[in-house]
Amino acid sequence: MPRTMTKMFKIALPDGSVKEMPEGSTPADVAAAIGPGLAKAALAAKIDGEVRDIMRPFEGDSSLALITSRDEKDALELVRHDFAHILAEAVQNLFPGTQITFGPATDDGFYYDFAPTAEHGPFTEEELPAIEEEMRRIIAADKPLVREVWTRAQVRDFFDKSGEAFKAEWVMELPEGETITMYRTGDGKDAWIDLCRGPHLASTGKLDPNAFKLTRVSGAYWRGDPKNPMLSRIYGTAWLNKKQLDAYLVRLEEAAKRDHRKIGQEMDLFHLQAEAHGSVFWHPNGYIIWRELEAYMRRRLDAAGYLEVKTPQLMDARQWEKSGHWGKYRENMFVVPDEIPSTEEEAPILSGDADLMALKPMNCPAHVLIFNQGIKSYRDLPLRLAEFGCCHRNEPHGALHGILRVRQFTQDDAHIFVTGEQLVDEVVEFCNLLDSVYRQLGFENYAIKLALRPDQRYGSDAEWDHAEQVLREAVAKAGRNTPEFGWEELPGEGAFYAPKLEFHLTDAIGRTWQVGTIQADTVLPERLDANYIGEDGQKHRPVMLHRAIIGTFERFIGILIEHYAGKFPLWLAPVQAVVATIVSDADAYAGEVAAKLAVAGVRVETDLRNEKINYKVREHSLAKVPLLLVVGKREAEEGTVAIRRLGSDEHQKVMSLDEAVAMISAEIVPPDLREG
Ligand SMILES: [Zn+2]
Ligand SMILES: [Zn+2]
Repeated sequence: MPRTMTKMFKIALPDGSVKEMPEGSTPADVAAAIGPGLAKAALAAKIDGEVRDIMRPFEGDSSLALITSRDEKDALELVRHDFAHILAEAVQNLFPGTQITFGPATDDGFYYDFAPTAEHGPFTEEELPAIEEEMRRIIAADKPLVREVWTRAQVRDFFDKSGEAFKAEWVMELPEGETITMYRTGDGKDAWIDLCRGPHLASTGKLDPNAFKLTRVSGAYWRGDPKNPMLSRIYGTAWLNKKQLDAYLVRLEEAAKRDHRKIGQEMDLFHLQAEAHGSVFWHPNGYIIWRELEAYMRRRLDAAGYLEVKTPQLMDARQWEKSGHWGKYRENMFVVPDEIPSTEEEAPILSGDADLMALKPMNCPAHVLIFNQGIKSYRDLPLRLAEFGCCHRNEPHGALHGILRVRQFTQDDAHIFVTGEQLVDEVVEFCNLLDSVYRQLGFENYAIKLALRPDQRYGSDAEWDHAEQVLREAVAKAGRNTPEFGWEELPGEGAFYAPKLEFHLTDAIGRTWQVGTIQADTVLPERLDANYIGEDGQKHRPVMLHRAIIGTFERFIGILIEHYAGKFPLWLAPVQAVVATIVSDADAYAGEVAAKLAVAGVRVETDLRNEKINYKVREHSLAKVPLLLVVGKREAEEGTVAIRRLGSDEHQKVMSLDEAVAMISAEIVPPDLREG
């Protein structure tokens, strides 16, 4: 063997091969050794699973996966963090004296918090185009982004000298002994430096100058604390290329048009007001959608062998203690004293020493209490208890959002008690039911993800191994652990008591929503001592499956509104048809038409106002009424109607009244009740 002075590291590549690289070499060297194409495409490196700079030398034998733009998630995060640095440099170039603080990547871009000079004050949106220009100049200069290890004292001195009070404060709070890195953009007097953990791309020129946009400014407190100085935050969105950026901007615009709060008002579906933060006032039109959806879900559950129950809103705190919610979940609960309030003038309304009760934040413990009534045998299993359970969760006002994020909500909840042997098949059955429901409700695409054990959890490792394996196996058995179903496993994202399958819907404009879930839980049956008598005559613990398909009615209806942009399929539309007159001579006939439709079960209204027909058409299409039946003198004489469909380009279609009634009453049938 030849003797060599240089130490060699073994670098294992994803294809199983191993490359020997001399000490001091970098992932970029490996990329270059493989080929010039890869050398150009490689953005960063995953070393033993950790994302690192492509120019950072290996520190020993390691596994290496090169990150290119194909690894979209990692690439986007890197790029967004780079943009944040470039934003900060641009702002300091244009507005000398501005201090820097923090600037992370976000879900669609990045932001940076600045302390502007007193003379300048907070940044404004009018300044954003100039800042964008300066950012493009920095990108065009293709400045290298270099990682440097500094000592704490060096960093503090550097920031003290350059008047960066916030950064100087921050670095002194980093734990003693932690490796402190500074990232330098460019060289010499052109260099710009920020305290940063990284990683970053090799140079600013790796970014697409047309793949970002600064979007808005806002105030933000230093370190999120209202007692601290107010900073000026600049937001941007950033992508790998212009095509992605454009698609995102179109999606934003489209999302604004579909905003469920806006459409909810236009269609008179619901409202919210401050006197009931996070609880929805359903108007008659909105509640029709709810009732149709609830009736649909009830039919599907009945057919799938579920038994519907109803459980109390208020339960004693001791019960929540037993179930484990009082410890882990209390901050999300509304707590109520078990006491009659005093009406005496001098006395306090509540004594403060009554027993506590809590509004249920979930239905699970109550369903175990039903299961525990009487003796259960293995012949009773699987036992599927369903509840359209109204729950309350105490969320801060700022976290609430329309009907998508509320404090009072109704779940399509169910708990299935099964033996260990029944587990996989029951989960498969659930996957099939959910698949059919999503398709019938108009969602063709959804993804399935397995959320694995979190750091903080109940139960032994063996139990978690088993529970995770069961869910994995069930999805495979249902044939859905495929790329078509976006199958992936998410380490650390399970609930504290069980791993879970998550089902993410894709809506009409490509956004995803986590809606359905199923979790295999052995902890709650244990805590609440649920058991059944097995074939062997002995007591056994059942496994409890927590599952929901649409999640909550509130959020799901919000998603439906945005998915359909208010143009609901006929069976869900609050008003299915309006009979509108052209002339008042047709009033009596319009009444006859509406009456016939109503008898056929159609939700129909008449519009006999003395208005031009075009005005009526416009108004009802704004209200998203699917069918407009126009009648005039001629229709009245001939016994016909002229039908216009919402959003259809084809002209109105004239047909006999009987034909129209037959056609419409066939179309309003919910999807699960249709033949074939
Ligand atoms: Zn950084
Ligand atoms: Zn549950």
